[in-house]
Amino acid sequence: MASLSDLPIRDDLRGLSPYGAPQKHVRIQLNVNENTHPIPEAVATDIVSSLAKAILSVNRYPDREFTELRESLAGYVGHGLAAANIWAANGSNEVLQQVLQAFGGPGRSVLGFPPTYSMHSIIASGTGTRWIPGERDASFEISPATVTRWIEQTSPDLVFLCSPNNPTGTPLSLETIAAAYEATPGIVVVDEAYAEFAPAGTESALSLLPGRERLLISRTMSKAFAFAGARVGYLAADPVIADAMRLVRLPYHLSSLTQAAAVAALAHAPEMLAMVDDIRRQRDRLLTELPKLGFHAWPSAANFVLFGGVDDPHAVFEALLDHDIIIRDLGIAGHLRVSAGTEGETTAFLEALEGLRLH
Ligand SMILES: *Cc1c(COP(=O)(O)O)cnc(C)c1O
Repeated sequence: MASLSDLPIRDDLRGLSPYGAPQKHVRIQLNVNENTHPIPEAVATDIVSSLAKAILSVNRYPDREFTELRESLAGYVGHGLAAANIWAANGSNEVLQQVLQAFGGPGRSVLGFPPTYSMHSIIASGTGTRWIPGERDASFEISPATVTRWIEQTSPDLVFLCSPNNPTGTPLSLETIAAAYEATPGIVVVDEAYAEFAPAGTESALSLLPGRERLLISRTMSKAFAFAGARVGYLAADPVIADAMRLVRLPYHLSSLTQAAAVAALAHAPEMLAMVDDIRRQRDRLLTELPKLGFHAWPSAANFVLFGGVDDPHAVFEALLDHDIIIRDLGIAGHLRVSAGTEGETTAFLEALEGLRLH
């Protein structure tokens, strides 16, 4: 078998590693922040009948403008947004890729603030966009002054912010987002993949959209909506942004089946989101219980918790695997990340971890 280095691959891809969260079939999977609650059966039945109808016309290409889906998403996000403000793709990863295809690319750069979602820099390299790693303040926060200073010093074409941030859980203030927008003539993307898990009353960056045509809020159905396997992500922005996306997307990128499934799921948004409260409770339980076991739990507004004070993260990761539990070792010294699961899963994780401490 040939090796990658034998191929005439792009020079800027040589030596890079792909996204690599382990996919293992263990009993308790708390490693990639999925919603571990299955979707309600009544909703599943409804989605299946929509799919059954859609399959009868798969001889035709899907609606290239996915109008019904955009209308459903606009209704879901509210904030006075209409279908024209929404763009969607196969996961928010594809949305972000299209954003970088349109506004990034060779000779251009994107500023991000590690530790953050690993796909941001990977999508940058896939599109030939230079990744500029900024630095956060203490406790993984980013103040308006810090974001402004980084933008002024590096003049990026795009700024990627993540709120709440993965993998730290840190929320980001609207003041910081507004300051980033003021400081750059470029595109500002706020990745709000976990917005639904934020404490009640938290304002979304969606409220900043009026009058800011270079601001993009990316969202996903993968987490709160328990729809990771269906691959549906979207962004909200000024309608002109969709015109930019149309230049780079592949025609018919959202299949009829994806559109049908997502529209049916969105019609049941309240039932689909019924588990969010329970997941928040489990997240808060992790925030309370981990310190009792001697770990430092970072504040989180998402469905996961980053915890420090782990002497040997790799050993703890492996020991939990022996208990049929998988969490995430992100290579952050002394830290591991765990997703909030069902009550039973969260209990099993905490008990296994306590057992490790005792031995
Ligand atoms: C999980 C996650 C996503 C989701 O990506 P999809 O492609 O929509 O599944 C996006 N952004 C962040 C920060 C995430 O953690």
